[in-house]
Amino acid sequence: MPGFRELLAQTKKDIREIEPADAEARLADATFLDVRELEEYEQGMIPGAVFIPRGHLESQIENKVSDRSAPVVIYCAGGTRSAFAAKTLQELGYSDVVSMAGGFGRWKNEGRPWITPAVLTPEQRNRYHRHVLLPEVGEAGQQKLLESKVLLLGAGGLGSPAALYLAAAGVGTLGIVDMDVVDASNLQRQILHNVDRIGERKVDSAKKTLTQLNPDVDVVTYDVRFGADNVLDIIDGYDVIVDGTDNFPTRYLLNDATVLKRIPVVHGSIFRFEGQITVFKPCDGPCYRCMLPEPPPPELAPSCAEAGVIGVLPGIVGSIQALEAIKLILDLGDPLIGRLLAYDALEQSFRAFKVRRDPECPTCGPNAGPIVIAEYDDLCLPHAVLADGTTI
Ligand SMILES: [Zn+2]
Repeated sequence: MPGFRELLAQTKKDIREIEPADAEARLADATFLDVRELEEYEQGMIPGAVFIPRGHLESQIENKVSDRSAPVVIYCAGGTRSAFAAKTLQELGYSDVVSMAGGFGRWKNEGRPWITPAVLTPEQRNRYHRHVLLPEVGEAGQQKLLESKVLLLGAGGLGSPAALYLAAAGVGTLGIVDMDVVDASNLQRQILHNVDRIGERKVDSAKKTLTQLNPDVDVVTYDVRFGADNVLDIIDGYDVIVDGTDNFPTRYLLNDATVLKRIPVVHGSIFRFEGQITVFKPCDGPCYRCMLPEPPPPELAPSCAEAGVIGVLPGIVGSIQALEAIKLILDLGDPLIGRLLAYDALEQSFRAFKVRRDPECPTCGPNAGPIVIAEYDDLCLPHAVLADGTTI
């Protein structure tokens, strides 16, 4: 039986080792893989490196480096664990793998670039443990959620479950736009609020609930009417917008502003026992005007207040909106871009419909003119009123 030294010597014969100087020359084109333990990684890392502790290498490598022909530079603290890791990756079919001699220690001593990674605190690691366990999310994904900003339009039926789940998931900044006050008739479905909050501003009630759920979350409130005069300022800097509004003029206004700013919108709507969800990602898929060039006549589209809505329904639709927002932030799976998911609560069925970009779309089509951010009346398109009061 070979001892450790013989095993290491044999392993080093079976793999390729490169010097830190040669490794640095490959920073731009190779994946750097850090196989140290978390405590070592937290002290400093090579910028852009993928972190998989040696003990999890076999189980996690395929999720983080799926292309087996991609160049990989592995490092540890001194070059021993990375040598064994390189051998393992070769055995798993990775064809362009090298181990960095001298490891992170020599890299750092030679004055090469390194950074201290943003890592979760022990409390956050515990709080988000079920996320960290998912290789598709992990610590890096949780960190990304904590750094992300989602704006919710409305703290009502759809905004309530969406905000609660986004806050629970650790989305670091949640903006909420709502100019309403909590009414007793809201409590049938708007679960951010409660009887003690009746008469209170909805944004203030929402902030209290969300901060109690997760103090990590910075809740930014906009107790204003969302209009042409402020829409561009409000949405600026947000990564994703969750639209829980219930009127057509606001949806068209939001659409035009978000196409202009290239911000994806997770759209949700509810009506009686039915709900719809889709994602408008500017330039990657259709926009709201592609899907609905003109609003339906008012008699065919009564508002929630007039038509009624079953209580649990916004919980389902708003929760799907929250999940789509998280998928967009983490670049996970297939978001509902170009697909409209329709939910029927009475049938208990989901159906997906294709939504295509409209080449004639006045907002995102190839021949669309400059986007005008304007107030719209109930007819939305033909009778637009500009922010300064003039009509077009
Ligand atoms: Zn469009």
